[in-house]
This record gives sequence, structure tokens and C-alpha cells, in this order.
Amino acid sequence: GKWVYSFGAGKAEGGAGDVEHLGGKGANLAEMAGLGLPVPPGLTIVTDACTHFYAHGRTLPEEMKGEVLAGLNRIESETGRYFGSAKNPLLLSVRSGARTSMPGMMDTVLNLGLNDETVVGLAHSAGDARFAWDSYRRFIQMYGDVVLGIEHEMFEEILDHEKGRFGHELDTELTADEWKHVTALYKQLIEDELGEPFPQEPEVQLWGAVAAVFASWMNARAITYRQLHNIPGHWGTAVNIQAMVFGNLGSSSATGVAFTRNPSTGERALYGEFLVNAQGEDVVAGIRTPQSLSEKARLESGSDKPSMEKLMPKAFAEFTAICDRLETHYRDMQDVEFTIERGKLWMLQTRSGKRTTKAAMKIAVDMVAEGLIDEDDAVSRIEPSSLDQLLHPTIDPRMAREVIGSGLPASPGAATGEIVFTAEDAVTAREEGRKVILVRMETSPEDIHGMHAAEAILTTRGGMTSHAAVVARGMGIPCVTGAGSMRVDLRNGVLLGIGVKLKKGDIITIDGSSGQVLQGAVPMLQPELSGDFAKLMQWADRTRRMTVRTNADTPGDARAARSFGAEGIGLCRTEHMFFEGERIHVMREMILAEDEAGRRAALDKLLPMQRSDFTELFTIMHGLPVTIRLLDPPLHEFLPKTAKEIAEVATAMGLEPRALAQRIEALHEFNPMLGHRGCRLAISYPEIAEMQARAIFEAAVAAGLETGAPVVPEIMVPLVGLRSELDYVKGVIDRVASEVMREGALEISYLVGTMIELPRAAIRAHVIAEAAEFFSFGTNDLTQTTFGMSRDDASAFLPTYQRKGIIERDPFISLDFDGVGELIRIAAERGRQTRPDMKLGICGEHGGDPASIHFCEDVGLDYVSCSPFRVPIARLSAAQATI
Ligand code: ADP
Ligand code: MG
Ligand code: MG
Repeated sequence: GKWVYSFGAGKAEGGAGDVEHLGGKGANLAEMAGLGLPVPPGLTIVTDACTHFYAHGRTLPEEMKGEVLAGLNRIESETGRYFGSAKNPLLLSVRSGARTSMPGMMDTVLNLGLNDETVVGLAHSAGDARFAWDSYRRFIQMYGDVVLGIEHEMFEEILDHEKGRFGHELDTELTADEWKHVTALYKQLIEDELGEPFPQEPEVQLWGAVAAVFASWMNARAITYRQLHNIPGHWGTAVNIQAMVFGNLGSSSATGVAFTRNPSTGERALYGEFLVNAQGEDVVAGIRTPQSLSEKARLESGSDKPSMEKLMPKAFAEFTAICDRLETHYRDMQDVEFTIERGKLWMLQTRSGKRTTKAAMKIAVDMVAEGLIDEDDAVSRIEPSSLDQLLHPTIDPRMAREVIGSGLPASPGAATGEIVFTAEDAVTAREEGRKVILVRMETSPEDIHGMHAAEAILTTRGGMTSHAAVVARGMGIPCVTGAGSMRVDLRNGVLLGIGVKLKKGDIITIDGSSGQVLQGAVPMLQPELSGDFAKLMQWADRTRRMTVRTNADTPGDARAARSFGAEGIGLCRTEHMFFEGERIHVMREMILAEDEAGRRAALDKLLPMQRSDFTELFTIMHGLPVTIRLLDPPLHEFLPKTAKEIAEVATAMGLEPRALAQRIEALHEFNPMLGHRGCRLAISYPEIAEMQARAIFEAAVAAGLETGAPVVPEIMVPLVGLRSELDYVKGVIDRVASEVMREGALEISYLVGTMIELPRAAIRAHVIAEAAEFFSFGTNDLTQTTFGMSRDDASAFLPTYQRKGIIERDPFISLDFDGVGELIRIAAERGRQTRPDMKLGICGEHGGDPASIHFCEDVGLDYVSCSPFRVPIARLSAAQATI
């Protein structure tokens, strides 16, 4: 194949479409050259060469070397300078460039080709000896660091020492002779360290630098970066070899970086910095304070140093014109690097600029108004998960952070409050009007009321799908889980963090978006849901096919979800309702009853409570579809656990604590996830399902009368594997429905469907669909049952799986398309074979995950359902999936 692609003077062999082979930097350099923009000529070695390099004991293919040398000839004829020439030397930059930018992760070498001879030639041809020696010492330092592995600091030490001796403060003050002297010391350092002199032969330097760039692909920080950003290791990097242009050729030269719009606000104004008489990374290295580009920006910053607009008006005018041209061409905000050599502007890089969510939305909406992109483009431009940044208060990024621990970013947003260690304390504090953070080792369903009362939740154990994480996301409150560096010492009532010991009542702040835990209160920015956000969501809603429902258990959830645009409830988990206030006692009475009569007596007390819950939900949803799931968890989850709790319940029920303990013991299960739960409960205790069905129907009638919008409840039977299970439970529901209709002499429309959360149900979908009027994919359980992997225990081994490359993503967060996804496909297809108009939805955590939502669109589901705060994310993702 072809190893090398050239670019320069108005033409290029590649372009922006060749990112895969040329890397991002190379593809865009070629694109700019092809547009006729001033780009120093160069060539790109394709990413395949990097793969080859690693496959062949870190060596460079000979064929490639030949192609590079041919490319160098073209650069020489275009520049009129010659690589290695003692009279008129061509210098090169050797730059890394992967498919996606990995800022600062890999290495670049500038001024390559200098040696003891060519430095004299450079001094001569440029007419500036100081510049030549400055370039040479930079080269030795970079090459020494990047290629020869000698620490950067050792060079800095020498330079600092010599500057002191010469009596200078700034690098720019050193004279030619002084730089020459520093250069000699640098070369000596290398010889001392390596036992060999600094390589003088330019071609040796070149292959050394190319190999070093390839090698930097596997340096520790690049590997970590790739892991964090899901970049595959086999991609490899390209290498760009390019003629040097010089920003360090005196006061008419400079180097700089810019964004074509403000990356934090999105404002349409050039945003960036430059430095006179400087090279490469000087701007970002912070050696000298950089200067503003435009006069306007200078005035805003209050700087007294002249702007580029003032100092170099011609280059500035050309630069702004090029920025406009690039924006029009790429139809996106660009992040560019440039250098000015003696007044002449050169473009060194362009790419789509990173931006905050706020800026992304403003830029997208503005660009539609400017006619650069259309509405679908704008919708596609916003990263759905980044909306999290907007929907919750966030920590003001300008503030310093005093981090005392960190864990998983389980539920986004930030909150401040006093530490409490128990749900009871959280509730009490809330009643007294104080704000609290509930801090636990982990949470369980009994903590629900405390979680509701808290501003945020912090656990030292558990993963992204632990109880705390799921509930917090559902409630839209910030949560950090698995903060392993912190310890809860309940006995002494303290929370141990990094370097601190905090007690109940001490103030902390949780950042659920980053997983950080901070000491004290921190200023926050409030969410803004109007303006650009509203406009983008409107465009998204116009485009998408699937509807977006929410998982809501409480009126608060339902209201929040509606304000975020939910079009119904896809999952109402009724069990949460049984933990509230007094209800838990009645619930316990029901579970602990000796016989059916005892259970019915307790259920009679629960009926009005459930009915009023459902009435409120239906009323809030105002005729929108609402899916209610019958009781799902095993009964022992509702029972008291500690000896103290058992004693309390026993007293209340007039039982011996020992008798109660025995009953609890009898309900114990070895594997509750696969135990007596879901529809199995309704089959063992049909009176529970009866009560729930009655509550639902009576509530539907009541809410329909109140709002004037008829309610068609969708009753969902959990954990069905056999059609006969569904038949049995449906029989109970239908019977209750006819009773309620007869009692009220009215008609009720309703649907009975099932969750598909067992592989057997997916495979037998065509048969189950004979009884089920809708399917909702419960992908949390379906993932768990398909993998045979408990989601509550997976955090013990999933991270290892990911680290060892056994599995790429956590299947509980992002749907496993190949396995679980295949089951969904099968079930959807078979279900619709039997019942073509069957409604299909998803209600697992995956219903709010953008990649999983794309999958749902592919399979043709009718709706996704997710926690309230993810509704906007789902609306946007569902739209993107159709574009
Ligand atoms: P990174 O990917 O880390 O940004 P680059 O390859 O862009 O690394 O190089 C860093 C800097 O080196 C550039 O921003 C530019 O200032 C300088 N540089 C790179 N190539 C050249 C060149 N041909 N002429 C002058 N300066 C260059
Ligand atoms: Mg760069
Ligand atoms: Mg389930």
C-alpha cells in the first residue's frame, strides 16, 4: 500500500475524509492545503505504519522510508531549502496525530535537521544567529526528551542556572552567543547521560523522531487517556512531517492558538492568544503571559499588552478571514494553531473545537440562523449525555476545589449539605429545614425516605447500578457511589476522607458529574432550560419517531418528568410506595399474617393508600399513558432487619420477637434475585395483585372524572417466563376489572402486558403475545438473567473485566447489543408476529443511554422510558437516531 501522503501549495493527496489513515491532524492539514490556505508543505505517514511498527518489533518499514524521502524532495523543491544542507537547511517538525485528538498525550519534535553545521547555515540564511541557536537548543531539548528519553527538567535546570549567571530573566533576553553556550551544555548533558554524542546526521534524527512518535502511542499517559475516552489501542497514530516555519524570528514573528468562537459561552468572537517571538508550546507553557488576538478581547481582559490586531494588522486580517473560511467550510467552530514568520501567516492545525454544553447549544442554534447548518445538523451536534451538565446545578468551574475523596459519578449535578449517616436523621433535618447529604456505606430500600429528604447521596461502596445510584438518578439528585478512598465509621459517627475527619453536621459538597467529594460549600451555577435548549429540544421532538416516557414512582418524579417533556410513564414501580411513612407497618402486617384472611385485612388498609397514589399520578399525567407494574421484589425486602427493628415490629404486632424472627427466617432466600418475586408473588398471593388492580382501576375512574381526560391504564406483570404465568395473573386482573365496572356501572379500557426480562420470555414471545397486549423490555433484569451476572455483585469483577479487555463496556449501563440486544430483536419480531400492533418499549436504565436508544430505534420500539432527568437526553438521542 501507500505509506505516505503529501500536502502543500494548493494541493494535497488526502483530505478531511481520510481521518482513519491520516489521523485528524494530517487529514485537516491536507484539507487546508487543498483549500489553498497557507500551510507549510509536508507529508503524512499513515496510521497503518504505526500498526506495522508494533507488529515488527518497533521497526519502520523500508518502503515507507523511501516514500518519505521522495516526499521530502517535494518539500525541498517547494521551499527551496534542503534537508541537511549546510547553506540553506530545511528544518522539519515531526508531529503525532491520531484519529481523534489526544491533546498533550503524544509527542512532537520541532526544528529537526539542525546540527553543528546546519545551525550556521540557518543563521546565515535567516540573517539571525540568535534565532538559529535558539532553534538548535530547542531542538536538542525536545529531541533529548522525546527521542532519547532524557528528562525535560535536566535541560531546564541548566537553562535556569545559565540565565542566572548571565543575569537574564526571560528566554528572549539571551544573545546568540549565550544560546550557543547553552547548546554546548545541552549536548554535553546528552553525551554524559547516554555515553554517545547527540546525533548529527539529519536522516538519523528523522527516523529516530518518527519511531519516537509511534512509540509515544504506547506511553502510559496515552494509554490511560485512551481508556478514559474509549479509544481503541489498535487505531495507532499517524506522523506528520512538515517544513518548519518560525515564530521565533524576532518581533515580527509570533505563534498562537485560537477558537473561532468562544468555547465556553459560544459567543461568535475570536477567542485565543498569541506570543511574539516564540515557538510551539511557548503559548500554553506559561513562560510568558500571552497577548490577546483582537483589540476587543484585549479591552475586555484589561491587558495593557498590544493585541495581534494592533501589532500585526495585515496578518490579523488574513487570519480572521481564514477563520471565517474554515468555519464555512467545516460548518463548525474550529480550534486552530498558527504561526507568523516575519509578518507572513501560516496555518498549522485546525480541528473542531471542544466546547461546553452551553456553548455547543448556542453555536448550533446560531449556525442554523447563519444558514451554515440545518436543524437536523444542529440536533446531531449536541452530545446527549452532555445535557446532564445543564439540567442540574453545577459547581462553578472558576472556583477552587478542595477534594477530600472521589468515587463513581453515579447521578449528575452538585449539592451541598450537612453530613447525616441515617435515613432518620435525614428526615428530621429536612423537617427542620436543613439541607443534608446522606452518607452511607450503601443504601437499601429502607433508606428511601432518607434519600428523598437528602440533597444528595454519597456511598463508599457500590457501582453505577447500585441501589443508591438507580434511586438517585430516578429522583434526579446527585449521587457519588463507591467512594473507596473514604470510610464511614458509624460507631464513632465520622466520615474519613483524604486528610480529614468529618462528623455529622459538617458541610460537604458532592459533585455527581465528576464523582468528587469536596469539603465545605462551593458556589453553584443554576440550570437554564429556556432559550437555545428549548429551541433544540423542539427541533429534536419534530424529528424523532419514538416517544419518550419516564420511570416515575412518585408524584414528584412525575411532575419533574413532565416538565422535562415526558410523554407518559413507562414504569411505575409500586413497591416504593410501600416504604413510605406508616405504610411499611401495614405492609409488614400483610406479609407476616398467618393466613389469607389476615393478609386481606392488611391489604384492605393498603388499598386506599395505593388508590390515592395512582389517582395523583394519573391526574398529573392528564390522560397520557401510564404503565404500572405489579409488586415485584421478594417480600423479605420489606421486613425489619436489625434486632432493634424486629423488637419494635413485634411489639406493634403483639408478637413474640422470637416468633417474628422465625417468620423472617422462613422468608430467607439464598438467591432473592431468582427467588420468590415478580409474578410468582401474584401467583402465590393473588390477593396482592387483586388489591393493586382494584386500586389502579378505581384511580383511573377517579382521575378520568377529575381531569376530563380518560385514563387507559397499562398494567404490567413482572418476571414472566411462561405464558401460563401471565394467563393466571391476567385472569385475576380481568376479574377485578369486571367487578369494578359492574360496581360503578361503567366501562374501563385497560391493557395488560408484561415485562420481557427473562430469556425464556424473549424466546417464547410469540406465545406470550397471545396474552400480552404490550411488552416492555426490563433490560436491567434481562441483562442480569442473560449474563447470569448479578447487577448488585458485578462491581466486584466488571472493572477487572474492562481493564483486562474481556468486555468493553458495562452491560448494565450500555446495552449489550450482541446478546441482550439479540433477545430484544427476537422478542420484538416474534411478539409482532402474533400481535402486529403491539406496543413495545424499554424501561431499564438503558432507556436513558444514548447508544442503547439508537439500538431501540433500529429495532423499531415505540417508546423508551427513563428516569425524569434523563428525559431530555432521551428526546435528543431518539431524534439523533432517526437522522
Ligand atoms: P499537539 O498535537 O500536541 O498540539 P502539534 O503537532 O500540533 O502538537 O505541535 C505543537 C506545536 O508545535 C504547534 O502548535 C505549533 O506551534 C508547533 N509546530 C508544529 N509544527 C510546526 C511547524 N511546521 N512549524 C512551526 N511550528 C510548528
Ligand atoms: Mg497542536
Ligand atoms: Mg425487573
